[in-house]
Amino acid sequence: MRRISIFGSTGSIGCNTVDLVQRSPEEYSVVALTGGRNVAKLAEQAKALGAEIAVTAFEECGDALKDALAGTGIETAAGEAAVVAAAERPVDWVMSAIVGAAGLPPGLKALEHGGTLALANKESLVTAGPLLLETAEAHGARVLPVDSEHSAVFQGLVGEDIDAVERVIITASGGAFRDWPIERLKEATVAQASSHPNWAMGQRITIDSASLFNKALELIETHQFFGVDPERIEALIHPESLIHAMVGFRDGALMAHVGPPDMRHAIGYALHWPERRDLPVARLDFAEIGSMTFQAPDEARYPALALAREVMRQGGLTGAAFNAAKEAALDGFIGGRIGFLDMAGVVADVIEKMSGEGLGKAAITLDSVRHTDQMARRWADEFIEERQR
Ligand code: NAD
Ligand code: MG
Repeated sequence: MRRISIFGSTGSIGCNTVDLVQRSPEEYSVVALTGGRNVAKLAEQAKALGAEIAVTAFEECGDALKDALAGTGIETAAGEAAVVAAAERPVDWVMSAIVGAAGLPPGLKALEHGGTLALANKESLVTAGPLLLETAEAHGARVLPVDSEHSAVFQGLVGEDIDAVERVIITASGGAFRDWPIERLKEATVAQASSHPNWAMGQRITIDSASLFNKALELIETHQFFGVDPERIEALIHPESLIHAMVGFRDGALMAHVGPPDMRHAIGYALHWPERRDLPVARLDFAEIGSMTFQAPDEARYPALALAREVMRQGGLTGAAFNAAKEAALDGFIGGRIGFLDMAGVVADVIEKMSGEGLGKAAITLDSVRHTDQMARRWADEFIEERQR
């Protein structure tokens, strides 16, 4: 039996992972499940999968979790440190599906046991890519991408030489506002930004898809994970979300990964790798689909993409500042403090402010990432306040 843990099991990626695991329970022994405030769901999953321990990231939810699992023999714990402690339990496979920078510490801890880290938490690569990959290497662990575009690139590279890669194209649906005139974006509400045309995902990544901040994170993720030069990585609007990525080789050939917009494909690929197994995803009928369309992203409408290029140019801790500023700006938008278009402005202001501090050259450690993250959130709050005045 494979021992597995799922970090962020109650979220969108987490629930899809639980769904796949539950289809062949005899193959897995579930060690740790972690979640946030949705204690009822976490307890239900822990019982259904017979987990060893269930952990909520929030201390104030600890009692409710304990009550919900009383008499089951399943251990419980609460708080940030308890999430990291759960990652100390050795397993063969870990799903990293916490949202945001909070996913980095448990992911790093899990790598110390070797085994496989299935990485949905793209923020880990954006904030601390080199640290994550070096930690994996030092402990003989493996990181497998779960973001659909990166799983697609990974699959396109099987049996290929990375030096023969000329370009990598990752696609973007364009999000909730792709058909809106640019003048209207100022008025976009949280509810409108929280509905995705093709994918069912958590609220934060859905809003990031509408602003293309998600694609911006993914450009950086591609650069960090595959080591491809920023100039060779392109984002392409593809409203149907059927091609997830294309890898172009020096002979002009392109390998495109095509599939339905269902995260269980990328999760299942990482779960069963290097094998392919049956997965419960829809099969595409191209005669019915008829056509697929593409467009270059409009950089004026989506300033997040240019910001990502600046982050890759500067390197070092700039990714940590970028991600934290983006998370704070997103909180500001969700909390009604700033408008949709202000998010990119706030992030740009933070990057500009912090660039002079030698961010690009600083060493990436868990402490330096944390420090940069806190500074960036503080600056972002200041720039958000400025916009409210
Ligand atoms: P979600 O919001 O649905 O779920 C997030 C999970 O993290 C939940 O279990 C939540 O309880 C937990 N969590 C939230 N705050 C936390 C904190 N401070 N500490 C510890 N745990 C916390 O998010 P999601 O859409 O499942 O996305 C998870 C990750 O996967 C993100 O990094 C996202 O970018 C990435 N991703 C998601 C999708 C998708 O289809 N949803 C696709 C590609 C990549
Ligand atoms: Mg993606």
